[in-house]
Amino acid sequence: MSNSLEELRKEQQGSDMAEEPQSKNHTPSKDVEPIETREVKAANRQAAIEVRNLTKYYGDFLAVDNISFEVWDGEILGFLGPNGAGKSTTIKILSCFQPATEGSVQVAGHDVFTDSLNVRRKIGYMPENVPLYPEMRVREYLRFRAAIKGVPRSERSSRMAECLELCGIKEVEGKLIGQLSKGYRQRVGLADALIADPKILILDEPLASLDPNQQGYAKRLIQDLKGKHTIIFSTHILSDVEEICDRMVIIDKGKMVAAGTPEELANRYEDQHHLHAEVVGPFNDVKTRVAGIEGVLSVNATEHDGCIGLDIVTGADTDIREELSKQLLQNNWGLRELHTQRMDLADIFRKLTQAK
Ligand code: ADP
Repeated sequence: MSNSLEELRKEQQGSDMAEEPQSKNHTPSKDVEPIETREVKAANRQAAIEVRNLTKYYGDFLAVDNISFEVWDGEILGFLGPNGAGKSTTIKILSCFQPATEGSVQVAGHDVFTDSLNVRRKIGYMPENVPLYPEMRVREYLRFRAAIKGVPRSERSSRMAECLELCGIKEVEGKLIGQLSKGYRQRVGLADALIADPKILILDEPLASLDPNQQGYAKRLIQDLKGKHTIIFSTHILSDVEEICDRMVIIDKGKMVAAGTPEELANRYEDQHHLHAEVVGPFNDVKTRVAGIEGVLSVNATEHDGCIGLDIVTGADTDIREELSKQLLQNNWGLRELHTQRMDLADIFRKLTQAK
């Protein structure tokens, strides 16, 4: 365990412990984005999970609409979308807890529909609401789960010790699960998912309803698990993905809208460039000149500390920096600062999911 995680666990113990005492006539949507990262990374990466044209109807309601993506070996993939987007539905299908209507899913080379026994052996699944037995003690529960999951008797004690330590629940191993706080119950759920040392971890909203301290702990724990496990986790919170994921898949209203690293998404979806300049010169002249540069869509100018702050918007394929410096030189105006401002992930997420 990393020092950072150990320290955080110790820090957190105080606050957390205080709480203790059938197929449809389906037409695939046409506007599914191509998976832009596939061509970049596929050449040298193995897929731990491969989802192809996955579709799920609940009655007549289309909850997952023809989505395709991969989770590469060894990565942490964030499965991001607003509430109701279809994340849990997809995660449950990947974990063999729910059938799909159409499509295919391979997990560690096994088909979830025809070979679910082998899939279950390769994955550790943590559902959104961890179903724990409140009347069992943590130690008892994990031993029971290890047995169910086929951990050899001779290895159970060492697996349990490792998971208790890793998930920071050693100090509550003798407690009744029903008496644990939400944060600790989540950790027991994660220990359960880890007990058989699965290659792949599938976590459904593992950070939801945890307080900020508990979330910090859980995020570091997930990061610590990287390298040993391939991880996919769902969330509706963008910052979770930004902080700990290598890549993300974004879905909205059942449709996949994007996949890639934050940089790849920024490059693909940025439709404007934002430039900020601090210029010394006559306010109106400067503003008019800059607004007149070819490719400038808008300029917002404010005066402060004897200079003019300019927020300039151009099209994504326009770079006005050279023309701007030429104009400043010609007019003998001073330049104190010039930098580009990229769209951040929140802007992209909002744009892709039309969240207000
Ligand atoms: P998310 O996890 O992204 O919040 P879900 O996969 O839970 O989304 O749900 C996607 C959509 O499917 C929602 O509109 C939800 O109401 C609906 N849904 C989920 N489970 C069922 C079910 N068992 N029966 C009918 N509709 C469901």
